[in-house]
Amino acid sequence: MENVVIIGAGIGGLIAGSLLAKKGYKVTIFEAHGAPGGYTAGFYRKGYYFESGTVSFEASASVFKAMKDIGALGKIDFEKQRLRLYSEDFDGIPGSYGEFKRLIYSAFPAEKGKLDTAFRELDKIAAMTENMDKPLPFLYSGFEFFKAVLPFAAGGVRLMKLAGHYGNMTSSEFAAKYFEKGSKLHRLFCSFGYPEMSAMMVGSSLSGLFADLWTVKGGMQSWADVLAENFRELGGGLRLNSRVDRIITKDKAAVGVLCNHTVYDADYVISAGDYKKTLLKLLDDDSLVPETLRDKIGAAPVSEGYFTVYLGLNLKDEGLKKYMKAPHVLFFNLSPGFGGYNSDDEEFFNKTSVELYSPSMENPGLAPEGKSSLMLQAKVPCRWMDNWGGGDREAYLLLKQKAADALISGASRLIPGLSGRIEYRDAATPLTYEKFTGNTDGASCAWCWNPEKKFYQSAMSANIETPVKNLYIGSCWAMQVGGVPGALAAAYRCAGKIK
Ligand SMILES: Cc1cc2nc3c(=O)[nH]c(=O)nc-3n(C[C@H](O)[C@H](O)[C@H](O)COP(=O)(O)OP(=O)(O)OC[C@H]3O[C@@H](n4cnc5c(N)ncnc54)[C@H](O)[C@@H]3O)c2cc1C
Repeated sequence: MENVVIIGAGIGGLIAGSLLAKKGYKVTIFEAHGAPGGYTAGFYRKGYYFESGTVSFEASASVFKAMKDIGALGKIDFEKQRLRLYSEDFDGIPGSYGEFKRLIYSAFPAEKGKLDTAFRELDKIAAMTENMDKPLPFLYSGFEFFKAVLPFAAGGVRLMKLAGHYGNMTSSEFAAKYFEKGSKLHRLFCSFGYPEMSAMMVGSSLSGLFADLWTVKGGMQSWADVLAENFRELGGGLRLNSRVDRIITKDKAAVGVLCNHTVYDADYVISAGDYKKTLLKLLDDDSLVPETLRDKIGAAPVSEGYFTVYLGLNLKDEGLKKYMKAPHVLFFNLSPGFGGYNSDDEEFFNKTSVELYSPSMENPGLAPEGKSSLMLQAKVPCRWMDNWGGGDREAYLLLKQKAADALISGASRLIPGLSGRIEYRDAATPLTYEKFTGNTDGASCAWCWNPEKKFYQSAMSANIETPVKNLYIGSCWAMQVGGVPGALAAAYRCAGKIK
């Protein structure tokens, strides 16, 4: 029986492992952390549950197909998530892209003409991405793959035209075409998703954000635990607390891994974690990656990481709900002076928008009786303030505290008296995220989303091949914009490759 070793028990590693174990391979997953899940996981502190990464996901058809394929669909309570959009100009919980548009039109009646022209273009992109209610083609093989690609191919010419026009245009370039630079609407249209992401992504994510946003009732860790258990039932071996130190190669092919001073042989190795570390740090033979590629990988920018504040509140869920109205709130700060993402801007956290998410409002069992939990998040400019203090521990703690205070103060505009309700408080910087998952600079969704800074030629390709034979990428890093769908695409492509 052929032997597959997978590095990392995130959603990519667990799905790839399950698909291969189901096909009859001997699969072992090595996970550095003490629990499975990677970014799709969570943790308890003082009885309060918090998410470690993903709080919600889109592309549900792909997720449900994967769960069905590995025989685990009925084992998890997936739940649609409601997203509230809040600013000093608008406040609503749109259930669709159409409702989102109505909310924005009613908030800015004087800008109707400009909104008409901007939405005319976004509508075209949104209409092209309606196929998102079907699983990604990467989740199929053979004839089924061609059938899945067909709807995309049918709209081919129109899609190519739109991609040609908007694929390489950044969100701020798009916004500047219709709205005065620095105006509220300009800032709003730059605020969705990742900074400077492609206008194509703005259109497609707006069409999915309200109609296809999901979470897991028991928290993401319950999903990871079910995936891990299911993988074991399929015959897979999962080694927790087992960091892989080296990928062993022979004759330019991967033949095993080194973990805790022991070599484990493998016919195939799937690296389901960080791409940069896989090719620049884990290989036992540097010469296997050509120098030009090494330089390109080293220099490639990654997606922004998150700063997250975790709060345990002495406030009943009903009390929190009175203010939040929905478990997930995007609180936009559209005031003048919010100059976007600048790594040297010490005041960044006083100006940024805040994302609020309450796990216990989604499920009261995730906090102690009569209490509630709240996460405050912001995407941070990459390596903010000399990468959070330039290695100086005291400077790091000070920046972390100032950033947390700023987000709490921002959120207090929605939840009055918030600071007085805090019973537990902690925070994670992108360095914390990197420490627990190995993702470079705490990148939250693989590579940089700015189309001008792409690592892969196509933002839509799933790239699992490496310069090393029998070594594949099984994590979200196989796709430019990563995410849960990226991890699934990589997992299926790896499982399909190993025959
Ligand atoms: C705050 C936040 C919000 C997000 N929101 C969304 C969202 O709304 N929608 C969405 O689609 N995506 C979202 N994402 C991204 C999504 O969570 C990830 O893209 C996805 O979970 C990645 O899965 P993965 O399996 O590819 O990798 P990871 O989850 O990064 O898993 C990699 C695993 O490999 C392990 N590992 C690494 N190196 C080694 C080693 N040497 N030895 C052993 N183990 C190792 C790590 O410990 C980790 O468990 C979000 C991420 C964050 C941080």
